Amino acid sequence: MPGRLAGKVAIVTGSGSGIGKAIAIRFASEGATVVVDYRNRPEQAIDTKTKAEAAGGKAITVQSDVTKMADTQNIVDQAYLQLGRCDILVNNAGIEKRADFWDVTEQDYDAVLNVNLKGAFFLTQFFVRRLRDAKLPGRIINISSVHEDMAFPHFSTYCASKGGIRMLMRNLAVELGPLGITVNNIAPGAIATPINKSLLEDKPKLDALLANIPLSRLGTSEEVAGLAAFLASDEAAYVTGSTYVIDGGLMVDYHEQ
Ligand code: NAD
Repeated sequence: MPGRLAGKVAIVTGSGSGIGKAIAIRFASEGATVVVDYRNRPEQAIDTKTKAEAAGGKAITVQSDVTKMADTQNIVDQAYLQLGRCDILVNNAGIEKRADFWDVTEQDYDAVLNVNLKGAFFLTQFFVRRLRDAKLPGRIINISSVHEDMAFPHFSTYCASKGGIRMLMRNLAVELGPLGITVNNIAPGAIATPINKSLLEDKPKLDALLANIPLSRLGTSEEVAGLAAFLASDEAAYVTGSTYVIDGGLMVDYHEQ
């Protein structure tokens, strides 16, 4: 649906790869100008920008490590300096670290929580302050996970961060609703992206996972991007405070009798 995001500016964090990249390209195809945030691989961000422009939109790239407050503020500042506005924020950057709970180090904890929760928290704050001052509406979409709700043994830091972003989303939906700012989460199940590299290379593990997915396949980044485009568009004007699950049925609580 071309044009649903015409005239809008959207920040997508971690959009040099995976789901963030697909969202940036999809938003551009619907008319948005996209701020492609990347941490340390400029060539990936440039590829996203090239593909976003080929899809019909515009894009700029901004280097930013979302765990650093100055970088985080800079993403929003660059949107206003270079593009004059910022309507949509997609908190997509995320990492995961596998460890038994009793072996999790403070370093692991800080690494995961700082990207997945603290980064999203303060970037959202910088994004909201500008909208509040200008009395303008906005859209916040967090790429959470089915693990904002569903256990994931050996990934306690990841679950803590995604559970945190679920409650942050719900709280902000209430607090920011009067400002005309909507806040929603997308909770993907298993999507074929670089974050799942080891899973994709482990056939027995992958087959065991597929046996629990009613649609019997992994999802694609483009499918997640389609949902994000809906939530960013006027069609979702009355949607706030919700998590949209996109998981091929993984979370349906069903056991063969
Ligand atoms: P990915 O590894 O391709 O994407 C993660 C992106 O985050 C990368 O581009 C990476 O550079 C960026 N990033 C990491 N640390 C950063 C930092 N400090 N500052 C800025 N950017 C940083 O994997 P993906 O699957 O596309 O993950 C995107 C989001 O989707 C994550 O939040 C992830 O938790 C979530 N998710 C993915 C799946 C899945 O199955 N792929 C499932 C549920 C949720």
